[in-house]
Amino acid sequence: MSNIELNKRQDQILEIVKEKGPITGEQIADLLNLTRATLRPDLAILTMTGYLEARPRVGYFYAGKSGGLHISEKINKIMVKDYQSIPVVVNNNVSVYDAICTMFLEDVGTLFVVDENSILVGVLSRKDLLRASLGSQNLNTIPVNIIMTRMPNITMCTRDELIINVADKLIEKQIDALPIVKETDKGYEVVGRITKTNITKLLVDIANDELMI
Ligand code: ADP
Repeated sequence: MSNIELNKRQDQILEIVKEKGPITGEQIADLLNLTRATLRPDLAILTMTGYLEARPRVGYFYAGKSGGLHISEKINKIMVKDYQSIPVVVNNNVSVYDAICTMFLEDVGTLFVVDENSILVGVLSRKDLLRASLGSQNLNTIPVNIIMTRMPNITMCTRDELIINVADKLIEKQIDALPIVKETDKGYEVVGRITKTNITKLLVDIANDELMI
């Protein structure tokens, strides 16, 4: 219901109500130089679809994209695919040195390690790379597959999972990121990345009433 396309005038009404609400239909009409009657169908649509709420003798106020749902109901509809990031992967035979360079260049805190078939075989975090750097060995000669956390010990998720499940896993396992995977006959292919940063973005969107649903 709440994902219908709004026309230009309906968008204008929403902007006005967001800024000035609660506001009466009369006042909205004045601001748009229209009559109350012209506006009536748009206000009806915006109210029925849950964008606006109307209170008798008070006026219209903004109810958010997902209507008047309670905040926990909203959060429990958000999927991983609504907040995912692009994954950064390295091959399992690159050196620790190269992985550190990739982490800086790509500006991420977690790298996913894949084999020659692009199948997930490991995870590298900042601390994994720091730990390896503390040893005296030459970082150019140590392959990442020696130091990574490997399958089957990787916590993963799919695009169609609830984001709140991911938040639970991040806390329970005390990790920063999960690979988003797609199962194939060879193993799990990495299709995305979801991190504490994505969940923080979700929190900010909740506060601004700009949830991606
Ligand atoms: P940091 O190194 O900054 O503490 P994490 O808390 O994410 O980062 O990683 C802690 C440990 O957990 C590391 O050894 C890392 O390899 C491992 N790890 C990170 N993400 C996962 C994951 N999705 N599944 C399994 N292990 C992981």
